[in-house]
Amino acid sequence: MEKVTVKRFNELFPDDDTCLDFMFKQAYASMPACLKCGVMEPRYYRVRGRKCYECKDCGNQIHPLGGTIFHKSSTSLKDWFYVVYLFSVSKNGVSAKEVERHLGVTYKTAWRIAKQVRTLMAQGGNPLSGVVETDETYVGGRNKGAGKGFANKEVVFGMVERGGRVKAEHVRSAGARILLPRLREGIAPGTVVYSDQAQVYRTLHRIGYYHDSVNHSAGEYGRGIVHTNTIEGFWSQLKRSVDGTYHCVSAKYLQLYLNEFVYRYNRRQLPSIFPELIASAARRVQ
Ligand SMILES: [Zn+2]
Repeated sequence: MEKVTVKRFNELFPDDDTCLDFMFKQAYASMPACLKCGVMEPRYYRVRGRKCYECKDCGNQIHPLGGTIFHKSSTSLKDWFYVVYLFSVSKNGVSAKEVERHLGVTYKTAWRIAKQVRTLMAQGGNPLSGVVETDETYVGGRNKGAGKGFANKEVVFGMVERGGRVKAEHVRSAGARILLPRLREGIAPGTVVYSDQAQVYRTLHRIGYYHDSVNHSAGEYGRGIVHTNTIEGFWSQLKRSVDGTYHCVSAKYLQLYLNEFVYRYNRRQLPSIFPELIASAARRVQ
């Protein structure tokens, strides 16, 4: 896979029509037969002036943007693709302000586009395994007055494989009833789990994990391989990005931002995440 420069992006997608053709091919190229007339290896042509394609044999129309994040948008498809590209090359996220500047659209439109692109970066995948570090952190809640700061911070629970993937979820609280089910779903049984000494982790050895902990309150930052430096590194990167790019993230959208950072982290070895991201945009979300 190549690194996708802005020059390469413009070569791949010079205009709206190229973008639409790409969407059509992504969604329908693998269809062996026309869904309506059943002709094998159907041939389609673009309907002039409309965002759809028609089967040469039966006239069945296919709208590749239907149900995707681009559906019914008045913003040009090339502009949408460009925002996807911006997200793919950014390290710390793309703010609505940046999108507004790049596209020359209103802030409201820019915000909506950025939010939609972020929905492409969903978390998923198999449970983590090997050696996993877990931790909770607190995000947001600007310190406006004394004693006010902590109360409106949001709890985020994270799990990371050393040298591998991360999962992060905005949770209601850091209690065992909230965290343990997520941990069991997110980490394969038999995995080595390292955490701090929070109460919630004390039962891990009884539910099928090898567990050890670091005593942060005693000033301990790890004993050899027993540490939580990986997840703490992820938290500090996340917080730097949230502070630097988004300044303040509301609780309502925190999970979307988490998904974005997790997506990028989990693909950090790839030269570009653009091909995967733009391909996923062809999938129907509605
Ligand atoms: Zn047909």
